[in-house]
Amino acid sequence: SFKAAIIGRPNVGKSTLFNRLVGRKLALVDDTPGVTRDRRVHAAKLYDLAFEVIDTAGFEDAPAASLPGRMRAQTEIAIDEADVIFFVVDAKAGLMPDDRTFADIVRRSGKPVVLVANKSEARGAQGGLLEAWELGLGEPVPVSAEHGIGMPDLRDAVVEALGEERVLGAEDEDDETLAASEVLIGEDISDPEAEAPAYDETKPLRIAVVGRPNAGKSTLINALIGEERLLTGPEAGITRDSISVDWDWRGRQMKLFDTAGMRRKSKVQEKLEKLSVADGLRAIRFAEIVIIVLDATIPFEKQDLQIADLIVREGRAPVIAFNKWDLIDNPQQALAELREKTERLLPQVRGIQAVPVSAETGRGLDKLMDAVVRTHKVWNSRVSTGRLNRWLEGILAHHPPPAVAGRRLKIKYVTQAKTRPPGFVVSCSRPDAMPQSYVRYLVNNMREAFDMPGVPIRVALRTSD
Ligand code: GDP
Repeated sequence: SFKAAIIGRPNVGKSTLFNRLVGRKLALVDDTPGVTRDRRVHAAKLYDLAFEVIDTAGFEDAPAASLPGRMRAQTEIAIDEADVIFFVVDAKAGLMPDDRTFADIVRRSGKPVVLVANKSEARGAQGGLLEAWELGLGEPVPVSAEHGIGMPDLRDAVVEALGEERVLGAEDEDDETLAASEVLIGEDISDPEAEAPAYDETKPLRIAVVGRPNAGKSTLINALIGEERLLTGPEAGITRDSISVDWDWRGRQMKLFDTAGMRRKSKVQEKLEKLSVADGLRAIRFAEIVIIVLDATIPFEKQDLQIADLIVREGRAPVIAFNKWDLIDNPQQALAELREKTERLLPQVRGIQAVPVSAETGRGLDKLMDAVVRTHKVWNSRVSTGRLNRWLEGILAHHPPPAVAGRRLKIKYVTQAKTRPPGFVVSCSRPDAMPQSYVRYLVNNMREAFDMPGVPIRVALRTSD
């Protein structure tokens, strides 16, 4: 089987194409508000081709101001994951500057591309179809996702892009399990009873440090590791070019992703680094815990929240370092205010650890690393099916799901399907009808009941049969 990503600027018809390929609606939720807009992976069919498709469409609902960054990041994640890109343009509207921007990202990825000229049934679409050639992504395939026109040609284009060999055998895949598994962000949660390995304190804890330029990342990293350690880590042959550096914090092995901050930077380097969303993404994906360094004198700029959001979407656990605390006048009051603000701005990771530090003086670093270890434990935590269902009994007794269209929704049972981050399957009568608000209630309550502060919690609804 292979994975396809549907890429393109807003309004070209990505969702319509997605729905046509997937053929049904997903019942997939988590504790992030508006998660129906989240990236989804789902089983798709195009005649004899059985594959998976990553949906990125909903990101255009985001407020306009934050759109480009989010869409861009999301697009890069999807491209990274995909074996083939469906690049969609609107033949009726013709090419827009954004089409070229997205096309550039796709071209740079070097992945096989199928250029889809959507809305080609519309009058005047011929011009748009011709224009599409200009993208340099090969021959456009005219389709109408809405009317189901051009699908056989699309199928052939996919086979051509990927090569027969790659596509052959796709039918053997058990797409039934895929369709039923309601996979979140590509992770396998189809085996609820699988035992996760016990928490292993001997394995290096993988950390990435992210934040806006000048937040103090380099200073923090150097304070944590010590400048000389960078060159002579316990792992032989560590150099400044290596991807990660190992070090030891109070007897605990740590592995730090070699992010921008680990090197002395020239101005040119700094500029390059700013361009690379993919770099930051790679660091986040490498890591188990991501330390977000905020300049406490100017905390929570939009970019900080975007990166926090990305960390949560990637299923990593964030820990906040309020840096430059030495510059704060009224620390007690400032901390109370900042923590209150943190909870308000990041409800999807309620209880997130946020620690004041001064990378320059070294104050607070112990507490920061304690918070990292604590959060890592929570991220790895597992709740037994027995405890979960005793908890569920209490929930059903005191705050059961609502009735929808006159029929009360029923929850049969809850199991934990995965860890890192914790993911749960809620088996219920009508997943499609379950209100998001109720699922959020479940997640918040679960977070309290099983003491899982500050980490993403995934919930997938599944029909009980
Ligand atoms: P980066 O771009 O995030 O890697 O930030 P740097 O580590 O290069 O730091 C940016 C600036 O903030 C430098 O001038 C640092 O000396 C300063 N800085 C970093 N940490 C602290 C801190 O804890 N207190 C104060 N007062 N300044 C800091």
